[in-house]
Amino acid sequence: MAEPSTQNASQIGIDPTRASEAPLPPSVEMKPAQAIKPGPDGIVRTVPESPLVDIMGGSSRHQINVLDHGFIALVDCMPRLVPQGQTADAAIVQAARVSYGQGTKKLNEDRGLIRYLLRHRHTTPLEMVEVKFHVCMPIFVARQWIRHRTANVNEYSARYSILPDRFYTPNLDQVRKQSKANRQGGEELFRVHDDAQELKTAQEFVNYLDDVEGFYKRYLALTEQGVSREMARIGLPVNMYTEWYWKCDLHNTLRFLALRMDSHAQAEIRVFAEAMLRLIEPLVPATVEAWRDYELGGLHLSRLEVDALTRLAAGSNPDLACDNARERSEWAEKLAKLGFRPA
Ligand SMILES: Cc1cc2nc3c(=O)[nH]c(=O)nc-3n(C[C@H](O)[C@H](O)[C@H](O)COP(=O)(O)OP(=O)(O)OC[C@H]3O[C@@H](n4cnc5c(N)ncnc54)[C@H](O)[C@@H]3O)c2cc1C
Repeated sequence: MAEPSTQNASQIGIDPTRASEAPLPPSVEMKPAQAIKPGPDGIVRTVPESPLVDIMGGSSRHQINVLDHGFIALVDCMPRLVPQGQTADAAIVQAARVSYGQGTKKLNEDRGLIRYLLRHRHTTPLEMVEVKFHVCMPIFVARQWIRHRTANVNEYSARYSILPDRFYTPNLDQVRKQSKANRQGGEELFRVHDDAQELKTAQEFVNYLDDVEGFYKRYLALTEQGVSREMARIGLPVNMYTEWYWKCDLHNTLRFLALRMDSHAQAEIRVFAEAMLRLIEPLVPATVEAWRDYELGGLHLSRLEVDALTRLAAGSNPDLACDNARERSEWAEKLAKLGFRPA
């Protein structure tokens, strides 16, 4: 086995000459036990093949402000240090190849592998990247967000501390009407600029939020009179802001984004999801590119839909062989996305 060639390397007991000679794929041809030498404490410390750089550029947080008082801030990620010229995509490739060191030097090969993984729904290599956020969002958004069970969460304790005076209040021209097509959704906006009655209704809604915000003073007063914080808070509305730290692996973060960036998700969580994607994209650009191509911008077809599409290609009726109205309307949406208009 070759001796370490630099003083620094010998101090930490590795053999950088062997490390840099490692052929690809390393998991097959490199024998770690022979390639590197333990230090006096028995620990093998490997010097990276090229300098490592902080993927967050030395910042403590990357923050985007969302809604009237909220924010989402990327506060950490894994890997945080990556070989110069690479991104956290490298950790996915490294895990997929079960390699160590840099894994590969050809970024286009890495991109191809990542695209393959996403296309074929391989999940665990993506779980090797983690992202940690500090988020401040209205409680009704947090209630939707917390349903994503694979994340690790720690929330501000309103039993321990007084909740700060922050309430979400949309502008008049952001008030949505109940959707007629989707019982869960609000879509169309009140026409506050050209319809007096709609302006009045939207104003009434905003006034109603102002009224519930008025409870904050009573909340504070009651805690000052000795009511416990854990009880005083229970009269506060769900448009009040809360905060948490949220850590999740990339696979489940992308799943969260696919669900919460979807047009069926509530607008107030969608804006957080969109901001989250902007923060993640520079960390894993190849993965996000592939995810946009195969998941976000893709289309899943059921067997019935494949059958209908096959009939359409043969010049026949693309009607769905199903009498469920919702499924049929979803098929119509998919056909429209594919560029087919109803006959
Ligand atoms: C537009 C929209 C509307 C919604 N409406 C409602 C509603 O009306 N009512 C309501 O209650 N919820 C609603 N939800 C929440 C929804 O049903 C899911 O609970 C939420 O989106 C989390 O999805 P998930 O389970 O895939 O995510 P995660 O909890 O992050 O789980 C990710 C994946 O991990 C796996 N997993 C996680 N935990 C377990 C476990 N314990 N056992 C086995 N596998 C596990 C599963 O494969 C899962 O798909 C809605 C969500 C959306 C996006």
